[in-house]
Amino acid sequence: MSDARLSSAPLRVLGGFGQAVNAACRYLAPRDAGELAEALARASREGMAVALRGSGRSYGDAALGDLVVDTSGLRDLSFDPATGVATAGPGVTIEQLWREALPHGYWPAVVPGTMAPTLAGCLAANVHGKNAFRAGPTGEHVESFDLLTASGETLRCSPTERPEIFHAAIGGFGALGAFTRVQIRLKKIESGLLRVEPIRGRSLAELFDRFEERLPAADYLVGWIDATASGASLGRGQLHQGNYLSAGEDPEGPASTLRVERQGLPGTIFGVPKGILWRFLRPFMWPPGMRLLNLAKYLAGYLQPAGKSYLQSHVAFAFLLDYVPDWRRAYGRAGFIQFQPFVPKETARETFRELLSLCQREGMPPFLAVLKRHRPDPFLLTHGLDGWSLAMDFPAADRERLWALCHRMSERVLDAGGRFYFAKDAVLRPLDVERAFGRERLGRFFELKRRLDPGGLFQTSLWRRVAPPPPL
Ligand SMILES: Cc1cc2nc3c(=O)[nH]c(=O)nc-3n(C[C@H](O)[C@H](O)[C@H](O)COP(=O)(O)OP(=O)(O)OC[C@H]3O[C@@H](n4cnc5c(N)ncnc54)[C@H](O)[C@@H]3O)c2cc1C
Repeated sequence: MSDARLSSAPLRVLGGFGQAVNAACRYLAPRDAGELAEALARASREGMAVALRGSGRSYGDAALGDLVVDTSGLRDLSFDPATGVATAGPGVTIEQLWREALPHGYWPAVVPGTMAPTLAGCLAANVHGKNAFRAGPTGEHVESFDLLTASGETLRCSPTERPEIFHAAIGGFGALGAFTRVQIRLKKIESGLLRVEPIRGRSLAELFDRFEERLPAADYLVGWIDATASGASLGRGQLHQGNYLSAGEDPEGPASTLRVERQGLPGTIFGVPKGILWRFLRPFMWPPGMRLLNLAKYLAGYLQPAGKSYLQSHVAFAFLLDYVPDWRRAYGRAGFIQFQPFVPKETARETFRELLSLCQREGMPPFLAVLKRHRPDPFLLTHGLDGWSLAMDFPAADRERLWALCHRMSERVLDAGGRFYFAKDAVLRPLDVERAFGRERLGRFFELKRRLDPGGLFQTSLWRRVAPPPPL
């Protein structure tokens, strides 16, 4: 690292994954734990606020700030096949983890919809997968982590060692310190394949009904919604249920399907090299185009015979969005945002019906909408609750109207007792956050923040946007 002051380090324009929120940030990428500690100590001395960053897959401003310290280069990984526990540097990605563990018959217990995120990013956001209703968020599978705090001290935390910090730093979006080491338990599997069944729902009510019927027997369950359909078809869509194969069920045999090469995503889709596929999406990125694409996707579901399942690799099932590299570029320069409310089960159906109708009335239907079921978990600022989430992607071309629409939706979600997820947020205001998480929980988090980071070293743009007044 050079001796020049950090405030004169070169500026780099960084964005959230949706590219609708960008910022010019000073940027450091330490190569090892020593450099990371030195970077934080210098930032503290020079009075610069640090935003930690992994792979930058949060959609909004969670990994942006004055001085971005990127820990994705710290990628040491060891995996113990006897216990199924991995010990990893903060920059180890989900991809690196599954590639290491799969040949031994293990798969990460929780994965997000892309394999690019780092483990530190996954802990900081406490990510969930298509099995959230069963496996909970990723934090429930963490054995322990090391947290480098603003004072330079490293704290070992686990569910039994410093449990308060353990349950706050997971889901704490890098506000309490930097993860420098993670120990995480993976799931034993008998095959590299899942049995997958698509299930149609002709309306939102039918989709919810099918989802609830399938929940008890599903290992994974996720719904895609055609958010452009209206009237009696409002909320129509398709579910995909995934189930692990038991020992002896894999027709190719685990020795074959647990190989990393067997998991690869195809190089072409409909004969088009996947690297340029996003260009084919570009002409559809306006409401009539999206209506057409969503309709085509919905009707394609009719080509699959009802009740028929097929076998699919874990990678193909889990990381659908990685099929089309660079797909976000199809949204153009203005980018897009994702808005993902979490609503209790008692009010979710009605709330999501209203949200979809509101978007349509405003002429801004989400281009992609995904339904998931969640359950409560023990983390302090968790987005998990006994209910449902609806993740909605919106193009950000008409920014002012889109933010206004999201604020109206937030009100509706909060009235229904809901919460939000900072990894998918660009629009929330301090009062929304206070209503979503409650003063008591936020108070406990701020108390820890005062204790571990009294000088406010760790501050992302997200933190500055949503921390309810008075901040610290
Ligand atoms: C296509 C796509 C699909 C997705 N699907 C899902 C999904 O299904 N479920 C889900 O839950 N999420 C999902 N996400 C969101 C994603 O999993 C989270 O945003 C995750 O945090 C990204 O990890 P990252 O390494 O990119 O972290 P970043 O986005 O770079 O950072 C995320 C947070 O982690 C903090 N952080 C980074 N490094 C450290 C560190 N060393 N110590 C402490 N804090 C740190 C940052 O300050 C920031 O607050 C998806 C994202 C994309 C782009």
